Amino acid sequence: MSIVYLNGEYLPADEAKVSVNDRGFLFSDGIYEVTPAYRGHFFLLDRHRDRLLKGMCELRLDADVAEVEAAHHELLRRNGLEDEAVSIVYLQITRGVAPRTHAFPKERVAPTIYAFAKAYHRPSRERWQEGFRAITVPDRRWARVDIKTVSLLGNVLAQQAAVDAGVDDSILIRDGVALEGAHSNFFAVLNGKLVTHPLSNTILPGITRGYVLELARELEIPVEERPIQVEELQRAEEAFFTGTTTEVKPCVEVDGRAVGSGAPGPITERLSEAFLERVGRIGTSAVGAGPA
Ligand code: PMP
Repeated sequence: MSIVYLNGEYLPADEAKVSVNDRGFLFSDGIYEVTPAYRGHFFLLDRHRDRLLKGMCELRLDADVAEVEAAHHELLRRNGLEDEAVSIVYLQITRGVAPRTHAFPKERVAPTIYAFAKAYHRPSRERWQEGFRAITVPDRRWARVDIKTVSLLGNVLAQQAAVDAGVDDSILIRDGVALEGAHSNFFAVLNGKLVTHPLSNTILPGITRGYVLELARELEIPVEERPIQVEELQRAEEAFFTGTTTEVKPCVEVDGRAVGSGAPGPITERLSEAFLERVGRIGTSAVGAGPA
């Protein structure tokens, strides 16, 4: 039984209970964050913290971030994940418990803070080499998906559409533009350039997206942050998704049509290798590692 964190306490997952009047339950009035740890060392923790703080600011949520961060380390310890190759900590902060009324509670209520840790198992090299298939689906989410809110119904329905179609992922399309995946950012290689949607209110500012862009610049791969038209997908040389529990994941088919050769392309390979090499070094050098 995993040990979870709830409002200052560590307890077995099946003993953790949240009120029916929690605004997260009633209104999805809350945010979340997913932070990876490689062999017990958090990766890009400061960037995940900054995104969390920005989200808290946008929604006027209030929580003790130092305590939350301490809980991240403690959850790895209590769940025996300190030596695990890859694990993640999921954190959720909601506005807390109050009688149901749309506006924020007049009197300040304590936020509900919940977190759990678990191992992440990346797909085998063979599975990765096969690549992953996607469909395009209309983006029906709200207009502030740059905030990492727990309001994920649009993402849930998009991912279910992929499952129903027998493929792995979906690419969200709005106004003819390929924005991102249902739970990841999206990149394409067009005319030898690595292209991804610029930061805006229509995509999540993925931490992995930012890191992969930095790797690409280091590797002198030409990069362009601009909208990708849906028609361009048909002539993309390569495509891939990025995310904390996605890392760099090749997309080899969109709507039944092969992307490039139908296998992971050379830029995808180079970036994935560079990414795995960096995270593989965590704990053995100072690169990107947070405190143990
Ligand atoms: N976009 C969406 C819609 C996501 O849900 C995620 C992962 N939660 C991402 C992008 C990737 O973000 P990150 O690299 O920070 O995990």
